[in-house]
Amino acid sequence: MSKCEVINGLVSQCNALDETMDGFNPVKREKGIFKWVYTDINTSKDTRSFIGAKTGIHKEKGLIFNFCPYCGVELRKANEK
Ligand SMILES: [Zn+2]
Repeated sequence: MSKCEVINGLVSQCNALDETMDGFNPVKREKGIFKWVYTDINTSKDTRSFIGAKTGIHKEKGLIFNFCPYCGVELRKANEK
């Protein structure tokens, strides 16, 4: 994918971002760039996903990207939590 897409709160990352990611759903002390995926445990369907970084002062909770640093697509609306 040459640009990120966000459909119904689910992010499909572009190739450049995909290659930068260290993995999915980091556990506590992991550092890097990750995709967080929330799944509805009743239906097993992914409901939301975010891409962000755990590094520096954000290594505990992580920093969610509002925009893709490569293609510039908005990954998260400003009024979303
Ligand atoms: Zn992108």
